[in-house]
Amino acid sequence: MHCPFCRHPDSRVIDSRTSDDGLSIRRRRQCPQCGGRFSTVETASLNVIKRSGVIEPFSREKVMSGVRKACQGRPVTDADLAMLAQSVEEAVRQTGSSQIDANEIGLAILGPLRELDEVAFLRFASVYQAFESLEDFETAIEQLRVDHRDRRRAHDAAQVD
Ligand SMILES: [Zn+2]
Repeated sequence: MHCPFCRHPDSRVIDSRTSDDGLSIRRRRQCPQCGGRFSTVETASLNVIKRSGVIEPFSREKVMSGVRKACQGRPVTDADLAMLAQSVEEAVRQTGSSQIDANEIGLAILGPLRELDEVAFLRFASVYQAFESLEDFETAIEQLRVDHRDRRRAHDAAQVD
């Protein structure tokens, strides 16, 4: 890319480091012409195809704001949401495709959100999966109950050993 100061078409990399989550590389660059220093961040492109057909870059911020609504009044912090958005990004990047359906992002949110807060999970699922009746809620709640029971059994079994 061009030097942002003098528009020289070339630059030299003087330092490069991978971000903590391993999803991006930050490079310190220096312009050989004016000596100006600047940084670039490189990430593999990941685009989301919205239901309307519009394509936009994946954004953790958007994941967080979508989930934040479902978490109103719940004991969920911004740090929790940031962690959730990161695991959603990792999950969708693991599919190996650079373009994903908005729908798949919703799916990738459900698992970690359920671990985070079951009430928020039910709220999010009811919107995302378009619950239409009380029965839909009952089915989802029953599924949570069954899983609780299974986990408790697994826990008890582990204690016996
Ligand atoms: Zn320059």
